[in-house]
Amino acid sequence: MLQQLQEIKKRGENHINTQDSNNYENNIHKTEEIQKSRIRCSRCEDELISDTEDNDLKNIGCDKCTNWYHLKCTGFKGKLYEEVAFSDFICGLCIKKTTLVTIL
Ligand SMILES: [Zn+2]
Ligand SMILES: [Zn+2]
Repeated sequence: MLQQLQEIKKRGENHINTQDSNNYENNIHKTEEIQKSRIRCSRCEDELISDTEDNDLKNIGCDKCTNWYHLKCTGFKGKLYEEVAFSDFICGLCIKKTTLVTIL
């Protein structure tokens, strides 16, 4: 990284600004991705771990909203993650919303 910046400076004053601002934007983007990966379970509010070996603590995302849950916090509790990973999953909050819409 430091070597790259030194290379850029050697190439002349005119190119410094554009090259540096590109690097700056890339760094910001990486930081945002790290923060996004720290997601909490929308039911128990414990942090979700993406690389856990514990079947109950694996993550499943709602198809209707952006909420994520532990497997143990959904109706899939007790099932293997491999069984449900590609199943449709609609969280409790969205089921309630759907029910309300149907009633109205
Ligand atoms: Zn949970
Ligand atoms: Zn949902």
